[in-house]
Amino acid sequence: MSLPFLPFSRPTIDEETIAAVGEVLRSGWITSGPKVQAFEAALSAYFGGRPVRTFNSGTCTMEIALRIAGIGPGDEVITTPISWVATANVIIEVGATPVFADIDPVTRNIDLDQVEAAITPRTKAIIPVYLSGLPVDMDRLYAIAAKHKLRVVEDAAQAFGSLWKGQRIGSFGDFVSFSFQANKNLTTAEGGCLVLNNEDEARLAEKYRLQGVTRSGLDGIDVDVLGGKYNMTDVTAAIGLGQMKVIDQVNAHRKALAEHYFRCFGPDFEAQTGAQLPQPAFETSNWHLFQIILPDQGPGTRARFMERMKAEHNIGLGYHYAPIHLFTMYRERGFKEGMFPVSEKIGRLTVTLPMFYAMTLADVERSVAAVKAVLAS
Ligand SMILES: *Cc1c(COP(=O)(O)O)cnc(C)c1O
Repeated sequence: MSLPFLPFSRPTIDEETIAAVGEVLRSGWITSGPKVQAFEAALSAYFGGRPVRTFNSGTCTMEIALRIAGIGPGDEVITTPISWVATANVIIEVGATPVFADIDPVTRNIDLDQVEAAITPRTKAIIPVYLSGLPVDMDRLYAIAAKHKLRVVEDAAQAFGSLWKGQRIGSFGDFVSFSFQANKNLTTAEGGCLVLNNEDEARLAEKYRLQGVTRSGLDGIDVDVLGGKYNMTDVTAAIGLGQMKVIDQVNAHRKALAEHYFRCFGPDFEAQTGAQLPQPAFETSNWHLFQIILPDQGPGTRARFMERMKAEHNIGLGYHYAPIHLFTMYRERGFKEGMFPVSEKIGRLTVTLPMFYAMTLADVERSVAAVKAVLAS
């Protein structure tokens, strides 16, 4: 194999950040402390001054948002089948019932017409997902939420730095959840944050994050809600602070890579191959992922494609995502094939091409040439 392995994602941590992590490790204070506070302040500034709290994942963020909203047994929460399974698992985790709405074949995000059709008197919240960093129609989303008095927990795990009409995702809206898992545009290795509406919600988030504890004075302590153990450490917050310094550069570079992808695929690629490119959403997306839908060649289409991309071109692809409703645990709750046909088709044929900060335009050219070669033979 002459060319080096090209993965679909790879984190970049600069030397300054590595040094900052070393300082924390030598400081005598390695768990939640001043770095977490500084990271939360930086995030709050990034999101227009809204309250922000950090956590050890972008999963517990959503679970805690649902708990703050008082959602539990008997309540329905509407979400998309095409997401990381965490998005639906948190609904079950709080005792509520997941209800799926199919996706739009062009944006691959939850179809807001289908959301409206799925609303019942038990519906309490919507969890939209901004797949690959592409927001849904945010005006329509919040109009639906207002009309039906629903809470929104935005799964913006992939959308750090994405925009809607020039405003950052997270700087407006209801609860907005981000993930800092290793593949995300901004990473802390593992971690997440939740943007909240007010200081009361932020205080409740702090309780759910740490065993329900409230401290007062030098030795005052009480517990009045059932919390868990979800706090971020200063070690990972130091990574986040380093990443905050370069995030705008990172997202600008991803955008340049995405533009080059479109240039290299060219205007005839879809007509010639039957494959489908993503939306050219250069005003909104942070280009977290670059996903194409393969032309359908029956069962095993994607596995064969991924195998050849690896064997013949040394390129590692991902797939985001398999439809959640067809997992065993969800089938056991009554979901089955045929319920969400667009999700089922896209879930079977979507592949994620390489897209990360350390990639070059030449890597994009290599990736596109490989896709074209595999599809042509
Ligand atoms: C990454 C991701 C999550 C979960 O984040 P973790 O930090 O891994 O818990 C949830 N939803 C989506 C869409 C994601 O991409």
